[in-house]
Amino acid sequence: MKMKICIGKTKSGGDCKARPISGSDYCFFHDPKSASKQREARGVEKAAGKAG
Ligand SMILES: [Zn+2]
Repeated sequence: MKMKICIGKTKSGGDCKARPISGSDYCFFHDPKSASKQREARGVEKAAGKAG
């Protein structure tokens, strides 16, 4: 059985391999529809002082 994985790419150019969200070929971090939520999440990371 082939497991569905995100078709997005990581920063290093490799396959994302994360589990896609329902109805999308992308995971939460790569799905365009999640962009707004992602921005919020990144904001939280920034607020937490996470580097990179
Ligand atoms: Zn992904």
